[in-house]
Amino acid sequence: MCTECGSYLANALATDLRKSKMESYITEINLVIGEIQNALDHLKSWMEPEKPKKNVMTLLDTLRIYNDPRGVVLIIGAWNYPVQLSLMPIIGAIAAGNCVILKPSEVANASAKALAELIPKYLDSECYSVVLGGVAETTELLKERFDYILYTGSSSVGKLVRSAANQYLTPVTLELGGKSPVYIDSTVDMSVAARRILWGKCINSGQTCIAPDYVLCTRDVQYMFVEEAKKVLQEFYGDNKKESPDLCRIINDKHFERLVDLMKDGEIAVGGGYDASDRFIEPTILTNVKPTDPIMQEEIFGPILPIMNVDNAYDAIKFINSRERPLTFYIFTTDKTVQSLMLDNTVSGSVCVNDTMLQFCVDTLPFGGVGQSGMGAYHGKYSFDTFTHKKSCLIKSLNKLGENLSR
Ligand code: NAD
Repeated sequence: MCTECGSYLANALATDLRKSKMESYITEINLVIGEIQNALDHLKSWMEPEKPKKNVMTLLDTLRIYNDPRGVVLIIGAWNYPVQLSLMPIIGAIAAGNCVILKPSEVANASAKALAELIPKYLDSECYSVVLGGVAETTELLKERFDYILYTGSSSVGKLVRSAANQYLTPVTLELGGKSPVYIDSTVDMSVAARRILWGKCINSGQTCIAPDYVLCTRDVQYMFVEEAKKVLQEFYGDNKKESPDLCRIINDKHFERLVDLMKDGEIAVGGGYDASDRFIEPTILTNVKPTDPIMQEEIFGPILPIMNVDNAYDAIKFINSRERPLTFYIFTTDKTVQSLMLDNTVSGSVCVNDTMLQFCVDTLPFGGVGQSGMGAYHGKYSFDTFTHKKSCLIKSLNKLGENLSR
Protein backbone atom coordinates (compact mmCIF):
# COMPACT_ATOMS: atom_id res chain seq x y z
CA MET A 1 0.00 0.00 0.00
CA CYS A 2 1.44 3.42 -0.91
CA THR A 3 2.38 5.83 1.89
CA GLU A 4 -0.25 8.37 0.79
CA CYS A 5 -2.99 5.72 0.90
CA GLY A 6 -1.90 4.70 4.40
CA SER A 7 -2.04 8.31 5.63
CA TYR A 8 -5.35 8.93 3.89
CA LEU A 9 -6.92 5.92 5.57
CA ALA A 10 -5.34 6.77 8.95
CA ASN A 11 -6.87 10.28 8.73
CA ALA A 12 -10.28 8.77 7.98
CA LEU A 13 -9.95 6.45 10.97
CA ALA A 14 -9.04 9.43 13.15
CA THR A 15 -12.20 11.20 11.97
CA ASP A 16 -14.47 8.23 12.60
CA LEU A 17 -13.06 6.85 15.84
CA ARG A 18 -10.28 9.24 16.88
CA LYS A 19 -7.94 6.31 16.35
CA SER A 20 -4.31 7.26 16.91
CA LYS A 21 -1.93 6.88 13.99
CA MET A 22 -0.09 4.10 15.81
CA GLU A 23 -3.30 2.15 16.49
CA SER A 24 -4.50 2.64 12.90
CA TYR A 25 -1.31 1.15 11.53
CA ILE A 26 -1.03 -1.69 14.05
CA THR A 27 -4.66 -2.83 13.99
CA GLU A 28 -5.74 -1.96 10.46
CA ILE A 29 -3.27 -0.82 7.81
CA ASN A 30 -0.30 -3.06 8.63
CA LEU A 31 -2.54 -6.12 8.92
CA VAL A 32 -3.81 -5.40 5.41
CA ILE A 33 -0.26 -4.95 4.09
CA GLY A 34 0.79 -8.24 5.74
CA GLU A 35 -2.19 -10.05 4.23
CA ILE A 36 -1.35 -8.73 0.74
CA GLN A 37 2.28 -9.77 1.09
CA ASN A 38 1.29 -13.23 2.32
CA ALA A 39 -1.04 -13.71 -0.65
CA LEU A 40 1.65 -12.55 -3.09
CA ASP A 41 4.20 -14.90 -1.51
CA HIS A 42 1.98 -17.98 -1.64
CA LEU A 43 -0.52 -17.42 -4.43
CA LYS A 44 1.25 -19.66 -6.93
CA SER A 45 1.15 -22.67 -4.62
CA TRP A 46 -2.41 -21.91 -3.43
CA MET A 47 -3.65 -21.84 -7.04
CA GLU A 48 -1.93 -25.04 -8.06
CA PRO A 49 -4.52 -27.81 -8.67
CA GLU A 50 -4.30 -30.45 -5.93
CA LYS A 51 -3.38 -34.00 -6.85
CA PRO A 52 -5.44 -36.14 -4.51
CA LYS A 53 -4.66 -39.78 -3.69
CA LYS A 54 -6.23 -42.37 -5.98
CA ASN A 55 -8.11 -45.48 -5.01
CA VAL A 56 -7.91 -48.88 -6.71
CA MET A 57 -10.71 -48.01 -9.17
CA THR A 58 -8.92 -44.88 -10.43
CA LEU A 59 -5.29 -46.03 -10.50
CA LEU A 60 -4.95 -45.35 -14.23
CA ASP A 61 -6.81 -42.06 -14.17
CA THR A 62 -5.85 -38.51 -13.37
CA LEU A 63 -7.45 -36.87 -10.32
CA ARG A 64 -7.31 -33.13 -9.80
CA ILE A 65 -8.97 -30.55 -7.57
CA TYR A 66 -9.09 -27.24 -9.39
CA ASN A 67 -9.38 -23.93 -7.56
CA ASP A 68 -12.10 -22.06 -9.43
CA PRO A 69 -13.13 -18.53 -8.45
CA ARG A 70 -16.65 -18.42 -7.06
CA GLY A 71 -17.57 -15.51 -9.35
CA VAL A 72 -18.95 -12.26 -8.00
CA VAL A 73 -18.49 -11.78 -4.27
CA LEU A 74 -20.34 -9.32 -2.04
CA ILE A 75 -18.39 -8.14 0.99
CA ILE A 76 -20.31 -6.22 3.65
CA GLY A 77 -18.06 -4.52 6.21
CA ALA A 78 -18.60 -3.32 9.78
CA TRP A 79 -17.70 0.06 11.26
CA ASN A 80 -15.37 -0.86 14.11
CA TYR A 81 -12.30 -1.69 11.96
CA PRO A 82 -13.67 -0.19 8.78
CA VAL A 83 -10.48 -0.43 6.74
CA GLN A 84 -9.22 -3.81 7.80
CA LEU A 85 -12.59 -5.58 7.84
CA SER A 86 -13.26 -4.37 4.29
CA LEU A 87 -9.84 -4.94 2.74
CA MET A 88 -8.77 -8.23 4.37
CA PRO A 89 -11.60 -10.21 2.75
CA ILE A 90 -11.09 -8.41 -0.57
CA ILE A 91 -7.49 -9.62 -0.68
CA GLY A 92 -8.60 -13.27 -0.42
CA ALA A 93 -11.38 -12.73 -2.94
CA ILE A 94 -9.02 -11.14 -5.49
CA ALA A 95 -6.35 -13.78 -4.88
CA ALA A 96 -8.93 -16.46 -5.68
CA GLY A 97 -9.84 -14.68 -8.92
CA ASN A 98 -13.23 -13.20 -8.06
CA CYS A 99 -14.92 -9.91 -8.87
CA VAL A 100 -15.91 -7.99 -5.74
CA ILE A 101 -18.56 -5.53 -4.66
CA LEU A 102 -17.69 -3.94 -1.33
CA LYS A 103 -20.33 -2.34 0.88
CA PRO A 104 -18.44 -0.68 3.74
CA SER A 105 -20.34 0.35 6.87
CA GLU A 106 -22.01 3.73 6.61
CA VAL A 107 -21.52 4.14 10.37
CA ALA A 108 -17.79 4.81 9.85
CA ASN A 109 -18.59 7.37 7.18
CA ALA A 110 -15.14 8.90 6.58
CA SER A 111 -13.47 5.50 6.19
CA ALA A 112 -16.22 4.27 3.86
CA LYS A 113 -15.76 7.36 1.67
CA ALA A 114 -11.97 6.97 1.70
CA LEU A 115 -12.30 3.37 0.49
CA ALA A 116 -14.76 4.43 -2.21
CA GLU A 117 -12.25 7.03 -3.42
CA LEU A 118 -9.12 4.90 -3.24
CA ILE A 119 -10.30 1.53 -4.57
CA PRO A 120 -11.26 2.76 -8.08
CA LYS A 121 -7.90 4.55 -8.28
CA TYR A 122 -5.94 1.34 -7.92
CA LEU A 123 -8.24 -1.51 -8.97
CA ASP A 124 -10.11 -2.18 -12.21
CA SER A 125 -13.61 -0.75 -11.71
CA GLU A 126 -15.07 -3.38 -14.04
CA CYS A 127 -14.18 -6.04 -11.49
CA TYR A 128 -14.02 -4.26 -8.14
CA SER A 129 -16.50 -1.65 -7.03
CA VAL A 130 -17.61 0.04 -3.84
CA VAL A 131 -21.24 0.74 -3.02
CA LEU A 132 -21.84 3.32 -0.31
CA GLY A 133 -25.00 3.34 1.77
CA GLY A 134 -26.83 2.03 4.80
CA VAL A 135 -29.68 -0.34 5.51
CA ALA A 136 -31.78 0.62 2.46
CA GLU A 137 -28.90 0.26 0.01
CA THR A 138 -27.70 -3.00 1.58
CA THR A 139 -31.23 -4.40 1.46
CA GLU A 140 -31.39 -3.57 -2.26
CA LEU A 141 -27.95 -5.08 -2.88
CA LEU A 142 -28.98 -8.27 -1.13
CA LYS A 143 -31.82 -8.73 -3.63
CA GLU A 144 -29.19 -9.27 -6.34
CA ARG A 145 -27.69 -12.64 -7.12
CA PHE A 146 -24.11 -13.15 -5.91
CA ASP A 147 -21.86 -16.19 -5.96
CA TYR A 148 -20.63 -15.63 -2.41
CA ILE A 149 -21.33 -13.21 0.43
CA LEU A 150 -19.00 -12.41 3.31
CA TYR A 151 -20.73 -10.35 5.98
CA THR A 152 -19.15 -8.81 9.09
CA GLY A 153 -21.42 -7.34 11.74
CA SER A 154 -24.05 -8.21 14.32
CA SER A 155 -25.70 -11.62 14.60
CA SER A 156 -29.16 -10.12 14.06
CA VAL A 157 -28.24 -8.58 10.68
CA GLY A 158 -26.25 -11.75 9.91
CA LYS A 159 -29.53 -13.66 9.98
CA LEU A 160 -31.06 -11.19 7.48
CA VAL A 161 -28.06 -11.59 5.18
CA ARG A 162 -28.26 -15.36 5.34
CA SER A 163 -31.94 -15.38 4.63
CA ALA A 164 -31.48 -13.04 1.63
CA ALA A 165 -28.67 -15.29 0.37
CA ASN A 166 -30.98 -18.28 0.65
CA GLN A 167 -33.08 -17.09 -2.24
CA TYR A 168 -30.30 -18.08 -4.66
CA LEU A 169 -28.64 -20.63 -2.35
CA THR A 170 -25.65 -18.28 -2.20
CA PRO A 171 -23.03 -19.55 0.25
CA VAL A 172 -22.08 -17.15 3.03
CA THR A 173 -19.40 -16.49 5.58
CA LEU A 174 -20.81 -14.65 8.59
CA GLU A 175 -18.30 -12.92 10.83
CA LEU A 176 -20.42 -12.01 13.83
CA GLY A 177 -19.97 -11.06 17.47
CA GLY A 178 -20.97 -12.08 20.96
CA LYS A 179 -19.65 -12.10 24.50
CA SER A 180 -16.08 -13.37 24.66
CA PRO A 181 -15.19 -14.48 28.19
CA VAL A 182 -11.86 -14.31 30.01
CA TYR A 183 -11.03 -16.81 32.73
CA ILE A 184 -8.27 -15.88 35.20
CA ASP A 185 -6.99 -18.13 37.97
CA SER A 186 -4.63 -17.56 40.88
CA THR A 187 -1.58 -19.08 39.14
CA VAL A 188 -0.99 -16.05 36.89
CA ASP A 189 1.44 -13.19 37.33
CA MET A 190 -1.32 -10.61 37.69
CA SER A 191 0.79 -7.66 36.56
CA VAL A 192 1.27 -9.39 33.20
CA ALA A 193 -2.29 -10.78 32.94
CA ALA A 194 -3.96 -7.45 33.77
CA ARG A 195 -1.79 -5.65 31.20
CA ARG A 196 -2.66 -8.08 28.42
CA ILE A 197 -6.37 -8.19 29.24
CA LEU A 198 -6.73 -4.41 29.50
CA TRP A 199 -4.75 -3.84 26.31
CA GLY A 200 -7.21 -6.13 24.51
CA LYS A 201 -10.16 -4.44 26.16
CA CYS A 202 -9.10 -0.83 25.61
CA ILE A 203 -7.79 -0.96 22.07
CA ASN A 204 -10.36 0.80 19.84
CA SER A 205 -12.07 1.61 23.17
CA GLY A 206 -13.41 -1.92 23.41
CA GLN A 207 -15.20 -1.69 20.03
CA THR A 208 -13.63 -4.93 18.89
CA CYS A 209 -15.43 -8.16 18.10
CA ILE A 210 -12.79 -10.21 19.92
CA ALA A 211 -12.36 -7.81 22.86
CA PRO A 212 -12.46 -9.55 26.25
CA ASP A 213 -16.13 -9.00 27.07
CA TYR A 214 -16.25 -10.10 30.71
CA VAL A 215 -14.03 -11.77 33.32
CA LEU A 216 -14.76 -14.94 35.26
CA CYS A 217 -12.68 -15.43 38.42
CA THR A 218 -12.86 -16.04 42.16
CA ARG A 219 -13.28 -13.14 44.60
CA ASP A 220 -9.59 -13.38 45.62
CA VAL A 221 -8.41 -13.21 42.02
CA GLN A 222 -10.82 -10.34 41.39
CA TYR A 223 -9.20 -8.33 44.19
CA MET A 224 -5.72 -8.83 42.72
CA PHE A 225 -6.93 -8.07 39.18
CA VAL A 226 -8.66 -4.83 40.18
CA GLU A 227 -5.59 -3.59 42.08
CA GLU A 228 -3.31 -4.33 39.12
CA ALA A 229 -5.84 -2.88 36.66
CA LYS A 230 -5.67 0.51 38.43
CA LYS A 231 -1.88 0.58 37.97
CA VAL A 232 -2.01 -0.60 34.35
CA LEU A 233 -4.64 1.95 33.30
CA GLN A 234 -2.67 4.70 34.98
CA GLU A 235 0.44 3.61 33.11
CA PHE A 236 -1.38 3.30 29.75
CA TYR A 237 -3.47 6.48 29.86
CA GLY A 238 -2.22 8.68 32.72
CA ASP A 239 -4.20 10.63 35.36
CA ASN A 240 -6.55 12.33 32.95
CA LYS A 241 -7.74 9.55 30.68
CA LYS A 242 -9.77 11.90 28.51
CA GLU A 243 -6.61 13.75 27.50
CA SER A 244 -4.81 10.57 26.48
CA PRO A 245 -4.15 10.49 22.71
CA ASP A 246 -4.40 6.70 22.83
CA LEU A 247 -8.07 6.23 23.72
CA CYS A 248 -10.49 6.07 20.81
CA ARG A 249 -13.95 7.59 20.99
CA ILE A 250 -17.27 5.75 20.83
CA ILE A 251 -18.47 5.68 17.23
CA ASN A 252 -21.78 7.54 17.69
CA ASP A 253 -24.30 8.88 20.22
CA LYS A 254 -26.48 5.77 20.04
CA HIS A 255 -23.63 3.49 21.11
CA PHE A 256 -22.41 6.04 23.65
CA GLU A 257 -25.81 6.16 25.37
CA ARG A 258 -26.12 2.37 25.27
CA LEU A 259 -22.74 2.06 27.03
CA VAL A 260 -23.53 4.68 29.67
CA ASP A 261 -26.70 2.70 30.47
CA LEU A 262 -24.69 -0.52 30.80
CA MET A 263 -22.40 1.15 33.36
CA LYS A 264 -25.38 1.30 35.75
CA ASP A 265 -25.08 -2.45 36.40
CA GLY A 266 -23.08 -3.76 39.40
CA GLU A 267 -20.57 -1.52 41.21
CA ILE A 268 -17.84 0.61 39.67
CA ALA A 269 -14.47 -0.69 40.91
CA VAL A 270 -12.32 1.32 38.48
CA GLY A 271 -13.12 4.26 36.18
CA GLY A 272 -16.74 5.16 35.53
CA GLY A 273 -16.14 8.59 33.95
CA TYR A 274 -17.66 9.72 30.66
CA ASP A 275 -18.28 12.83 28.60
CA ALA A 276 -21.14 12.94 26.11
CA SER A 277 -19.80 16.03 24.30
CA ASP A 278 -16.78 14.01 23.18
CA ARG A 279 -18.32 10.48 23.26
CA PHE A 280 -15.55 9.60 25.73
CA ILE A 281 -15.92 6.64 28.10
CA GLU A 282 -13.21 5.94 30.66
CA PRO A 283 -11.99 2.33 30.85
CA THR A 284 -14.25 0.94 33.58
CA ILE A 285 -14.32 -2.24 35.64
CA LEU A 286 -17.57 -3.38 37.25
CA THR A 287 -17.88 -5.88 40.09
CA ASN A 288 -20.92 -7.53 41.71
CA VAL A 289 -22.74 -7.90 38.42
CA LYS A 290 -25.45 -10.52 38.02
CA PRO A 291 -25.79 -12.87 35.03
CA THR A 292 -29.22 -11.36 34.39
CA ASP A 293 -27.93 -7.75 34.25
CA PRO A 294 -28.05 -6.16 30.77
CA ILE A 295 -24.24 -5.90 30.80
CA MET A 296 -24.09 -9.70 31.02
CA GLN A 297 -26.78 -10.21 28.40
CA GLU A 298 -25.58 -8.21 25.40
CA GLU A 299 -22.18 -7.80 23.75
CA ILE A 300 -20.62 -4.75 25.43
CA PHE A 301 -18.54 -3.37 22.55
CA GLY A 302 -17.03 -0.60 24.67
CA PRO A 303 -14.36 -0.06 27.36
CA ILE A 304 -16.38 -1.59 30.21
CA LEU A 305 -15.26 -4.84 31.79
CA PRO A 306 -17.62 -6.59 34.23
CA ILE A 307 -16.32 -9.31 36.54
CA MET A 308 -18.49 -12.30 37.43
CA ASN A 309 -17.39 -14.41 40.36
CA VAL A 310 -17.08 -18.17 39.98
CA ASP A 311 -15.70 -20.73 42.46
CA ASN A 312 -13.33 -22.58 40.13
CA ALA A 313 -12.56 -23.61 36.54
CA TYR A 314 -15.47 -26.09 36.44
CA ASP A 315 -17.87 -23.35 37.47
CA ALA A 316 -16.47 -21.08 34.74
CA ILE A 317 -16.88 -23.80 32.11
CA LYS A 318 -20.46 -24.38 33.22
CA PHE A 319 -21.19 -20.65 32.94
CA ILE A 320 -19.65 -20.37 29.45
CA ASN A 321 -21.47 -23.46 28.21
CA SER A 322 -24.80 -22.16 29.46
CA ARG A 323 -24.51 -19.25 26.98
CA GLU A 324 -24.20 -18.74 23.24
CA ARG A 325 -20.92 -19.94 21.75
CA PRO A 326 -18.47 -17.05 21.89
CA LEU A 327 -16.31 -15.70 19.09
CA THR A 328 -13.26 -16.16 21.26
CA PHE A 329 -12.24 -17.33 24.72
CA TYR A 330 -9.28 -16.10 26.74
CA ILE A 331 -7.75 -18.39 29.34
CA PHE A 332 -5.26 -16.98 31.84
CA THR A 333 -3.57 -19.72 33.85
CA THR A 334 -0.16 -21.33 34.00
CA ASP A 335 -1.73 -24.64 35.03
CA LYS A 336 -1.56 -26.88 31.95
CA THR A 337 -4.32 -29.14 33.34
CA VAL A 338 -6.68 -26.17 33.62
CA GLN A 339 -5.71 -25.02 30.11
CA SER A 340 -6.57 -28.47 28.70
CA LEU A 341 -9.74 -28.74 30.77
CA MET A 342 -11.01 -25.46 29.36
CA LEU A 343 -9.88 -26.14 25.79
CA ASP A 344 -11.51 -29.58 25.81
CA ASN A 345 -14.78 -28.57 27.42
CA THR A 346 -15.74 -25.30 25.76
CA VAL A 347 -16.64 -24.34 22.18
CA SER A 348 -15.64 -20.96 20.69
CA GLY A 349 -14.49 -19.51 17.37
CA SER A 350 -10.93 -19.26 18.70
CA VAL A 351 -8.97 -19.42 21.94
CA CYS A 352 -5.97 -17.47 23.16
CA VAL A 353 -4.16 -18.63 26.26
CA ASN A 354 -2.39 -16.03 28.42
CA ASP A 355 -2.85 -13.16 25.96
CA THR A 356 -5.61 -11.39 24.04
CA MET A 357 -6.30 -10.51 20.39
CA LEU A 358 -3.09 -11.96 18.96
CA GLN A 359 -4.83 -15.01 17.47
CA PHE A 360 -6.42 -12.59 14.98
CA CYS A 361 -3.05 -11.47 13.61
CA VAL A 362 -1.73 -14.90 12.63
CA ASP A 363 -2.45 -15.65 8.98
CA THR A 364 -1.98 -19.39 9.46
CA LEU A 365 -4.93 -19.48 11.89
CA PRO A 366 -8.48 -19.41 10.46
CA PHE A 367 -10.51 -16.53 11.89
CA GLY A 368 -14.23 -17.05 12.39
CA GLY A 369 -16.99 -17.79 14.84
CA VAL A 370 -19.22 -20.71 15.70
CA GLY A 371 -22.96 -20.84 16.36
CA GLN A 372 -24.28 -17.33 17.00
CA SER A 373 -20.77 -15.86 16.66
CA GLY A 374 -20.54 -16.82 13.01
CA MET A 375 -19.97 -19.40 10.33
CA GLY A 376 -16.97 -19.93 8.07
CA ALA A 377 -13.53 -18.42 8.51
CA TYR A 378 -10.93 -16.42 6.61
CA HIS A 379 -7.40 -14.90 6.73
CA GLY A 380 -4.38 -16.08 4.73
CA LYS A 381 -4.93 -19.35 2.86
CA TYR A 382 -8.32 -19.74 4.58
CA SER A 383 -9.50 -16.61 2.72
CA PHE A 384 -8.32 -18.03 -0.58
CA ASP A 385 -10.20 -21.28 0.17
CA THR A 386 -13.32 -19.39 1.27
CA PHE A 387 -13.55 -17.62 -2.06
CA THR A 388 -12.67 -20.70 -4.10
CA HIS A 389 -14.85 -23.46 -5.45
CA LYS A 390 -12.95 -26.74 -5.19
CA LYS A 391 -13.78 -28.41 -8.49
CA SER A 392 -13.21 -32.17 -8.36
CA CYS A 393 -12.11 -33.63 -11.63
CA LEU A 394 -11.46 -37.18 -12.84
CA ILE A 395 -9.80 -37.50 -16.25
CA LYS A 396 -9.86 -40.89 -17.89
CA SER A 397 -8.42 -41.95 -21.21
CA LEU A 398 -10.60 -43.79 -23.73
CA ASN A 399 -8.06 -46.58 -23.69
CA LYS A 400 -9.75 -49.99 -22.97
CA LEU A 401 -6.91 -50.95 -20.60
CA GLY A 402 -8.57 -49.56 -17.52
CA GLU A 403 -12.02 -50.91 -18.43
CA ASN A 404 -11.96 -53.98 -16.15
CA LEU A 405 -10.30 -52.12 -13.31
CA SER A 406 -12.95 -49.46 -12.96
CA ARG A 407 -16.13 -51.46 -13.63
P1 NAD B 1 -22.87 -2.17 11.33
O1 NAD B 1 -24.03 -1.44 11.90
O2 NAD B 1 -21.78 -1.41 10.66
O3 NAD B 1 -23.48 -3.23 10.31
C1 NAD B 1 -22.65 -4.04 9.53
C2 NAD B 1 -23.08 -3.94 8.09
O4 NAD B 1 -24.42 -4.37 7.96
C3 NAD B 1 -23.03 -2.51 7.58
O5 NAD B 1 -22.40 -2.52 6.32
C4 NAD B 1 -24.48 -2.09 7.52
O6 NAD B 1 -24.74 -1.19 6.49
C5 NAD B 1 -25.21 -3.41 7.28
N1 NAD B 1 -26.53 -3.42 7.87
C6 NAD B 1 -26.90 -2.94 9.08
N2 NAD B 1 -28.21 -3.18 9.28
C7 NAD B 1 -28.67 -3.81 8.18
C8 NAD B 1 -29.95 -4.32 7.80
N3 NAD B 1 -31.00 -4.21 8.58
N4 NAD B 1 -30.04 -4.94 6.59
C9 NAD B 1 -28.97 -5.06 5.80
N5 NAD B 1 -27.74 -4.59 6.12
C10 NAD B 1 -27.59 -3.97 7.28
O7 NAD B 1 -22.13 -3.03 12.34
P2 NAD B 1 -22.67 -3.69 13.60
O8 NAD B 1 -23.63 -4.74 13.17
O9 NAD B 1 -23.06 -2.69 14.63
O10 NAD B 1 -21.25 -4.34 14.03
C11 NAD B 1 -20.99 -4.67 15.28
C12 NAD B 1 -21.09 -6.17 15.42
O11 NAD B 1 -20.23 -6.78 14.49
C13 NAD B 1 -20.66 -6.66 16.77
O12 NAD B 1 -21.50 -7.68 17.18
C14 NAD B 1 -19.26 -7.21 16.51
O13 NAD B 1 -18.86 -8.20 17.42
C15 NAD B 1 -19.43 -7.74 15.12
N6 NAD B 1 -18.14 -7.80 14.46
C16 NAD B 1 -17.66 -9.02 14.14
C17 NAD B 1 -16.41 -9.12 13.55
C18 NAD B 1 -15.84 -10.45 13.18
O14 NAD B 1 -14.86 -10.45 12.43
N7 NAD B 1 -16.38 -11.55 13.65
C19 NAD B 1 -15.68 -7.97 13.29
C20 NAD B 1 -16.22 -6.75 13.63
C21 NAD B 1 -17.46 -6.66 14.21
